[in-house]
Amino acid sequence: MGSILTLNAGSSSIKFGLYDPDGPNRHFSGQIAGIGGPQAEFKVRGSQIPAPASFRANDHNEALAGLLTWLSHYLGKAPAVVSHRIVHGGERYASAVELTEPTIAYLESLTPLAPLHQPHGLAAIHAVTRLLPTTPQIACFDTAFHQTQASLQQRFALPRSWHDRGVRRYGFHGLSYEYIADQLPTVLDTHPGRVVVAHLGNGASACAIQNGRSVASTMGLTALDGLMMGSRCGRLDPGVVLYLQQTGGLSLDDTADLLYKQSGLLGVSGISSDMRQLLGEESPQAQEAIELFCLSAAREIASLLVPLGGLDALIFTAGIGENAPEIRARIVDHLAWLNIELDPQKNAANAQHIATVRSGVAVCVIATDEEIMLARHAANWLQRLC
Ligand code: ADP
Repeated sequence: MGSILTLNAGSSSIKFGLYDPDGPNRHFSGQIAGIGGPQAEFKVRGSQIPAPASFRANDHNEALAGLLTWLSHYLGKAPAVVSHRIVHGGERYASAVELTEPTIAYLESLTPLAPLHQPHGLAAIHAVTRLLPTTPQIACFDTAFHQTQASLQQRFALPRSWHDRGVRRYGFHGLSYEYIADQLPTVLDTHPGRVVVAHLGNGASACAIQNGRSVASTMGLTALDGLMMGSRCGRLDPGVVLYLQQTGGLSLDDTADLLYKQSGLLGVSGISSDMRQLLGEESPQAQEAIELFCLSAAREIASLLVPLGGLDALIFTAGIGENAPEIRARIVDHLAWLNIELDPQKNAANAQHIATVRSGVAVCVIATDEEIMLARHAANWLQRLC
């Protein structure tokens, strides 16, 4: 059936993986980092052929051309399908879709809704179209998993006409939540009841999951809402945006830059958007940024208990969620009134189950795998072709 190439393109990096559709099983995975910078880096894990000794990547096109040339030594032919992670699928897509010209045009039209992410995914699609014109490509969306939410959960309190024009809550990190939802019955060893998953990475959000489906999420029309993030502000009084423009003299572009790139941990600490770095800093600004992050996460998690009607399990995932016991402990401290309690030793060891036996709520750490979801959707797509 051929192989599946997965691509997850960011602003200066592309994560890639090669999978056999059976399983699907990963042959190898890797990352091209530093695209557009002085020194691009090509790293690969699990491949029998080594990474290229030197690698040029002035843009996504050059990075992918280099990757595909390297890949041809491994495969000898083009992959059967390329599966892209695309952040925004808008109202149209509740599942993965084959990329045709009209579909790509629709995804281009969604760029203002995810200005930090959508252009990079699209750049990868265009590069593959140029380099492998006969290879089919599919897109897997971070918004798709949330399309199961009730209309009320997706509605802003704006005039109906705006909702009808697509101004509503979409939710993001859907590939991560879909992967975790799939793991829940095994990890919890029981029917997963009312679950909140906190995806805490550079981008951060939380999702209420019931019966394996998304019920509500903290991100909205764009990936700005909800939890405070590495450089994004999270939930904000919309009046602040008006004030910044009316009184602060900020243009639209300045405002977008402020909210997406200069806020969050970076803005409050004035030091870094990187949690690991901030945890090593003693300055009061760094400490305040960390405390605000934890408070924001706890408040947003608590807000999801209304649509769920309670909480049976809290799951931590992504870079911070999987690796930062101190952050998990501080978030759970804010939620102690829910009869939720961490076992300090298990938490410090990043164990899978980290609550005490007394805790009324299970607390777990599950490593997410967005790439395998790209491969699974591609394998299903190939299966349907046969
Ligand atoms: P992305 O959203 O880019 O996929 P990740 O899920 O990789 O992000 O998460 C990146 C975040 O995880 C960064 O803030 C990083 O500092 C943090 N992180 C990774 N490892 C640790 C660690 N051991 N302790 C604290 N924070 C960590």
